[in-house]
Order: sequence, then C-alpha cells, then structure tokens
Amino acid sequence: MKDIKSMLPEEIASEFEAMGVPGYRAKQVFKWLVRGVGSFEEMSDIPKALREKLEAEYSIYKPRVLSKQVSKLDGTIKYLWELHDGNAVETVVMSYRHGNTVCVSSQVGCRQGCAFCASTIGGLVRHLEPSEILDEVLFSELDSGKHISNIVLMGIGEPLDNFDNVMKFLTLVNHPDGMNVGMRHISLSTCGLTERFDELAERDLQLTLSVSLHAPDDETRSEIMPANRNRGVEELMAACRRYYDRTGRRISFEYAMIDGVNDTEYHARLLAKRAKSVNAHVNLIPLNHVEERKYKPSTAGHMKAFIKILEEAGVNVTVRRKLGGDVDASCGQLRRKMQKK
Ligand code: SAH
Repeated sequence: MKDIKSMLPEEIASEFEAMGVPGYRAKQVFKWLVRGVGSFEEMSDIPKALREKLEAEYSIYKPRVLSKQVSKLDGTIKYLWELHDGNAVETVVMSYRHGNTVCVSSQVGCRQGCAFCASTIGGLVRHLEPSEILDEVLFSELDSGKHISNIVLMGIGEPLDNFDNVMKFLTLVNHPDGMNVGMRHISLSTCGLTERFDELAERDLQLTLSVSLHAPDDETRSEIMPANRNRGVEELMAACRRYYDRTGRRISFEYAMIDGVNDTEYHARLLAKRAKSVNAHVNLIPLNHVEERKYKPSTAGHMKAFIKILEEAGVNVTVRRKLGGDVDASCGQLRRKMQKK
C-alpha cells in the first residue's frame, strides 16, 4: 500500500483523478492528514464508499509515544517515537522566547561514525520516509500543544544521506495547505557530505545550512569525523563557498568544544580563518558527554579564551544555550538508552 502522507496534495490529486475521484478530494484528504488522523474512517466529509476505496489503496501511519520526558529545568520535551516497523527515533521540542523549535531525526541510526556522537553507535538501520519526518513535527505539535514555528534537522541521522526523502519532507512541511512552516525557519545540519551541496544550492531553498565543522584542520577533523577522511576541510570550504555564492544564505558552523581535542589556540586561529573565508557564523556548543565515548567538554576557561580569539578576529560567534540537560536531550542518547535495556 502507498504511504499517502509522503505525498503532496498535487500528487494525491493526480492519482485520484486517475482513479476517477474528483481532484478536490485530495485537498480535503491532505487537510485531514495534517490534523493527525490515523485512518480514512475519521475523514467525516468524505463519502463512505470513497473512504473504503482509499483505505484499501493507501496506508496512514502514526507514530506511538514510547516515552516523553519533560525537563524540569526549562520545559524542553523529548519524545521517543515508535515507528510502524518497531524502530524508534527521537524528537526534541525546545521553547525559546521567539517560539518553539522542534529538532527532528532524519534516519534510524547513522552511518557517519562521528567519534563523539551517540546516534552512530549502532550504525544506520534505515532512512526515514518523508511522512515519518513530517510526523515528528506534526505529533510533537499535537501532543505538546505547542505551536511549532521552527525546525532543525539536527536529530538522529545525516539529512544529506537521505537527500530525496528530506527534500520531500521540506516541501510537505512548507506546503500552504499543510503545516506551512517557512523555509527561513528551517535549518539543515550536515557533517559535510560536500557532493550534495551543489544539488541543495540549486533547489534555492531559503533554509539555513549548518555545517558541523568541529575542527578546522584535517588531522583533528578526520580523527573525530570519518566523513572528513575522503573529502577534507579544503573541499568542504570550497563547497561552502559555492553554496553561499549561489544562495546568498549565510552558513553556520557548528563547533562542539572537546577538551584537549579541538579547543587550543591553534584551532581557534584556524577556525577564525575558515569562518571568515566563507563569511560563516560560528555556533559553539560545549560537548555533551556521551557515556560510551571518551571525550569530555572543554573547561569554561578554555572556552572563554577560544571565544576571545574568534571575536578579536572579527568572527560572528554565539554560544548555544544548553537545554534539556536532565532529559538526555542530545542526539541519539535516548534511543541508545532504550537499545541497551
Ligand atoms: N548528521 C548531521 C545532523 C545530526 S547531529 C550533522 O552531523 O550535522 C546534530 C549536531 O549535534 C551536529 O552538529 C553534531 O555534530 C552534534 N553532536 C553530536 N553529538 C554531540 C555531542 N555529544 N555533543 C555536542 N554536539 C553533538
């Protein structure tokens, strides 16, 4: 059966027309889908005979809440969803003054192998379908009652490794008859699959591209991020430059500060040079300690000195506030805990 929630209303309409069903029914069905219905049965303005016909042709999946944790510190909500095949992914809802942001997963597991990350420990299980990524946003909003205004693709998985499904998700979530989230309110984070940057740029989306840089030199970066080994920082910078030139959208560099690994004066100076070369914004994050990993966050003193070097070099730098510290709200940690049980 076909996964109707991965289809745009225009696509549903053309299939309906081929089935002899009037095209306007597609818009009705699409609107029901973004209200979170789990069956055609619930679509009360669709004639019963048609509902039965559609029930036989299409599936409507709905994730189930496996666990929901609410942070006592800041209200951050962390969901662990069970998908229709028993796999699980996590989604985090963060509240800021400017609105609520949802952090979604794009794959079940990950094959990029970053040495500090919990998501990659069991490797890649499968890609998420467009509908499954959409459901993370939709059911986070419906369950929490918080209107979602921003989306970051920074959960489990590498979005550019699931390119087509992620692009389809973006079109779905941005659709005016759907959740209608503006592209300018969406960030896509990548470990740097440079071979996809041009393709992404050509789509000319207004989203923000975040590059998980974490080290400005090949020696350090290849050690902690295997994705760097056959690409390299120079190639990454060239891809960023082309992306920026083509889209005019400023890239942001994610940089998790790891004690004694990427937080020296040498790294700060080279990072400043890299950031300026592509006019990138730098977002520093103290590393989240992951039980299975040997890495520790940088000390406050090292972070301060690091920031000073960047600022003095004229780099635009922010330090990301840590949210959900008491709910394992960091990439892959909750799913990992469940796997261990
Ligand atoms: N695969 C994509 C998106 C998922 S990871 C990417 O690599 O960007 C989202 C962000 O969290 C990335 O910047 C990633 O490097 C970072 N991250 C992963 N584990 C972390 C940890 N233990 N502490 C801090 N940041 C981490």
